[in-house]
Amino acid sequence: MTHQFPALSPEQKKALSDIAQRIVASGKGILAADESVGTMGNRLQRINVENTEENRRAFREILFSSDASINQSIGGVILFHETLYQKDSSGKPFPALIKEKGIVVGIKLDKGTAPLAGTNGETTIQGLDGLAERCAQYKKDGVDFGKWRAVLKITSTTPSQLAIQENANALARYASICQQNGLVPIVEPEILPDGDHDLQRCQYVTEKVLAAVYKALNDHHVYLEGTLLKPNMVTAGHSCTKKYTPQDVAVATVTTLLRTVPAAVPGICFLSGGQSEEEASLNLNAMNQSPLPKPWKLTFSYGRALQASALAAWVGKSENKKAAQEAFRKRAQINSLACRGQYVVSGKTDAAATQSLFTASYTY
Ligand code: 13P
Repeated sequence: MTHQFPALSPEQKKALSDIAQRIVASGKGILAADESVGTMGNRLQRINVENTEENRRAFREILFSSDASINQSIGGVILFHETLYQKDSSGKPFPALIKEKGIVVGIKLDKGTAPLAGTNGETTIQGLDGLAERCAQYKKDGVDFGKWRAVLKITSTTPSQLAIQENANALARYASICQQNGLVPIVEPEILPDGDHDLQRCQYVTEKVLAAVYKALNDHHVYLEGTLLKPNMVTAGHSCTKKYTPQDVAVATVTTLLRTVPAAVPGICFLSGGQSEEEASLNLNAMNQSPLPKPWKLTFSYGRALQASALAAWVGKSENKKAAQEAFRKRAQINSLACRGQYVVSGKTDAAATQSLFTASYTY
């Protein structure tokens, strides 16, 4: 079985791998600012701000107009469709504002979950129809990577083999279409933290899911050097009574990744999954301190754990812009240190940073 029909030319491969490497260059991670209108509404509601297009734009402008030095810790930003076509107060399109700092622009490409009939409430992900055309247009509009979030859940009867296979195949098909159109696919099979399962059960399930994802990516001829993985960390369920240390999480997570993710993958960018800002940073730091081998960059692609303090500092008031930017800069810098295993907690951690950001059955 020789490879008679190459999926990508050497030039296409180089372009994809260059983009992926830039995003996860040393000390850099991703800001996931691609909340859908509804999810952004939930965030704004928490700070009593109305969910209008202008308020969503205003908060994103605060993040994207941070001082250019933010590019030391942020290599990529994921946008939602609406945000890609919005502008800052001076009329500059957001993608231009982000790119002039040397940060790569990405876009959410999935169209949310749909039920898998005959399962215990499991889902697949929609958005494959017309995806090639959307990718081609986004590439013209300045986008260089995509994100597709599949959702799996742990209960006594899930994830089913059907949900694992179906979501792995959809992720692989999405990844192939992205690469054909010059976008680096972020492959995100998120296993939700809901439940009272222990660390070992999460590890078992995460290994099964990631093994299926990499089999599907190989079947679809996806060029791994031009992809990034965005997994959950291996943690106990949110309602598990047994508590684990960041070192426990680090060993379980890195072991899982070593067993399932090929070394050709340049970077693994974790989602924060409802952990507090501080917890997400400490767990990432412990992984990067772990003596286990780490052939990929281990970094962050946080949504909640990069924005919660900034939102709380802003509360919808323009006079709080600087304070919100400072809160964002601080979390980004801490996570940048955590990517190198160099985060040392000094002084007292802000109470806000230790607050759980968990929401049941999280949708993005
Ligand atoms: P959280 O970091 O808030 O879990 O979200 C990241 C993300 O992009 C989920 O798709």
